[in-house]
Amino acid sequence: MTATVCILASSSRGNATAISFDDSGRFVLVDAGISPARVREAITRSGSLLRCQRLRAIFLTHLDSDHWANSWAAQVRRHPVPVIVRHQHAELALALGVPPACLRTLVTSFRLGDTASVVATKVSHDEIGSTAFRFDCEYASIGHATDLGCVEEGLIEAFAGVDILNIESNYDEEMQVRSNRPEFLKRRIMGDRGHLSNEQAVAAVARLASGGTIRHLNLLHLSQDCNRPEIVREVFEKRVGANIASMHISSPDQPTRPVAHSDSKFGKDQARLGPVLSRS
Ligand SMILES: [Zn+2]
Repeated sequence: MTATVCILASSSRGNATAISFDDSGRFVLVDAGISPARVREAITRSGSLLRCQRLRAIFLTHLDSDHWANSWAAQVRRHPVPVIVRHQHAELALALGVPPACLRTLVTSFRLGDTASVVATKVSHDEIGSTAFRFDCEYASIGHATDLGCVEEGLIEAFAGVDILNIESNYDEEMQVRSNRPEFLKRRIMGDRGHLSNEQAVAAVARLASGGTIRHLNLLHLSQDCNRPEIVREVFEKRVGANIASMHISSPDQPTRPVAHSDSKFGKDQARLGPVLSRS
């Protein structure tokens, strides 16, 4: 049995990540910032074993339009699934069309049936923050953090020992400074309530990877104006590449190659032998 993670799309135009906790084809979404049709298409194109009709829940980091697309409100009304937000986001979720009957709010932790436990950590972003999620199932521990202006100790602690890490690496500092964006926007993005630069992200990954448990790294939410996949790849290869078996850089339009991880009691040692390097 394996846990699978696939970044279906990630950018300021829309974010969605599919995670399954077993081989049943059932999955959860973290963020629904692309339309249901695009989610279906990306899942089909990913070549994963996920089944489009087996969506079991949606976790929202926050409710900016690149994380909750309007078209999901009608979809969830027609085909109800739980939509899970941190309690500070509940009011906005209702205002943006999440049906009350589907809304679940969590303070810190949540149990998803008998397959996974979920811990939420508030991270600093705009007025009410974003939410980082840690999922633990029998086969893997997965951390997902996007839209955060800084990495606080609470997040490092919350993500200790994860096997798969999804984290944003939003901008290259030099490109941001030199861009012709208005100063207020640069300040917002580069501030403690904005987004993570490549340097901030790699520093966080280096700390988390020093424990030796991160096997797979997915880098999210690259700025299309102020970052480039080649820069991200070089920064991360140099600083943390030696400790990580696979690294994937998300795209606005293409799903990443699905990462499957099986760290069961019997497979654990085997999984750590001879990493098979894969990069996309
Ligand atoms: Zn975003």
